[in-house]
Amino acid sequence: MATIIQTQTIGSTAVECAQPIIRVEDVHKYYELGETRVHALRGVTVDIAAGEFVAIMGASGSGKSTFMNLLGCLDKPSSGRYVLEGTDVSKLDKKQLAAIRNRKLGFVFQGFNLLARTTSLENVELPALYARLDKEERVKRATRALEMVGLGDRMEHFPSQLSGGQQQRVAIARALVNQPAILLADEPTGNLDSRTSVEIMEIFQKLNDAGLTVILVTHEPDIARFAKRSIVFRDGKIRRDELVNDRPDAAKVLESMPRVEEED
Ligand code: ADP
Ligand code: MG
Repeated sequence: MATIIQTQTIGSTAVECAQPIIRVEDVHKYYELGETRVHALRGVTVDIAAGEFVAIMGASGSGKSTFMNLLGCLDKPSSGRYVLEGTDVSKLDKKQLAAIRNRKLGFVFQGFNLLARTTSLENVELPALYARLDKEERVKRATRALEMVGLGDRMEHFPSQLSGGQQQRVAIARALVNQPAILLADEPTGNLDSRTSVEIMEIFQKLNDAGLTVILVTHEPDIARFAKRSIVFRDGKIRRDELVNDRPDAAKVLESMPRVEEED
């Protein structure tokens, strides 16, 4: 087995020596709401290595989305440090954060967030457009991403012509088009029935098997068990952090679930 070198050095060479892809150190987050101050994260410390598949669990209000927003560089900690692939994100300005988001991170949300009057292909192309790729490369990548999520035959469909599960798969393809190192998903199955939810987990397991780091928020234990590691938040702190035992293969689970007939 390769020796894992833990080093304090921050920089690209150190990263290649098996530093965690994500390092969160004693992070606190406050929201100021008029007179009141909400202490949403209360000293969170965690490392996540490349190739992990982590489920973030916890009751509503426990800080899951706040944590994901920090990991996703959508927000910054009030105190503490967040180091992403060797870069101390807590020190970056808005423009630098946006650049990191576009290059390294893919996002999937509960509410799909697709543009309504735009085809699957064009929805998936959008982040590649922001990354200034030319048309030919955009179409090539978007097509490949849609094929990866099993929607090669739905590229010209509009969101209203797709089922909820298909729309979420378009959103996953969109998250993948810039070839991120990390996929962040906040309650991606929150609006889906149980079979469709397992189909989404099948895609996440497949992407993770191919090397993508996946971090997923869910409050459903049945969904979290498809991950390799589960982290439970309570009152803004990590209360449990453990490996998932007897992780099921989503593709196998699907074989035993009744199929809802889908029309072409
Ligand atoms: P979860 O995703 O686990 O439901 P959140 O991270 O959304 O939890 O919220 C954690 C706490 O922070 C809650 O008390 C919530 O009300 C508060 N909170 C979240 N976002 C904001 C915000 N933008 N402004 C003020 N308070 C917020
Ligand atoms: Mg939330």
